Amino acid sequence: MIEYSTKALVLACEDIGEFDKTIYLFTKELGKVKARAKSARKITSKLSGHLQPLNFIRVRLVEKRGLQIADAFEVSQMKISHSAMEFVSFIKEMTFEFQQDKKIWFLIKEAFKDFKKQGKISYKRFLEIMGFSPKFAVCDICKNKFVKFFSQKEQIFLCYHCALPYKFKEKEKKEFPDLIAI
Ligand SMILES: [Zn+2]
Repeated sequence: MIEYSTKALVLACEDIGEFDKTIYLFTKELGKVKARAKSARKITSKLSGHLQPLNFIRVRLVEKRGLQIADAFEVSQMKISHSAMEFVSFIKEMTFEFQQDKKIWFLIKEAFKDFKKQGKISYKRFLEIMGFSPKFAVCDICKNKFVKFFSQKEQIFLCYHCALPYKFKEKEKKEFPDLIAI
């Protein structure tokens, strides 16, 4: 049985079946992974408190028809806020499973410090290492050089004016808008 021990940031969790959860993690050693937490929804589960989004954890994963969480404990926690939830959602959308990326892991830790200090982060460095440098980007619609937003779904940059109707439309559909301010 293959086993991994790694630090990770909890990105999201979803209920599956009656008692289990799917936990999305960005791990230091494996990049983004999806792992099953057995019986995490039972009130007595010692795991569940540690597996909340925004928690930094130390986790033990085992390969058993997909990854399963064998053990996890919380090391630290990002303060809950709309921007912090938007951030973990961004990491979940923009990274690939099983692609270890020490640079992203490093930036995640920096982002954790920035959130603590100023309650917000800059996405520019993330976009740069993900191959979407805002530096030479132009608005996908009007070609304006002053780009203000990035669409995670479309993977395009938008200027302030072109983003407005888009942002409004997205807001009605989703809890976390697809557009991030850069
Ligand atoms: Zn534009």
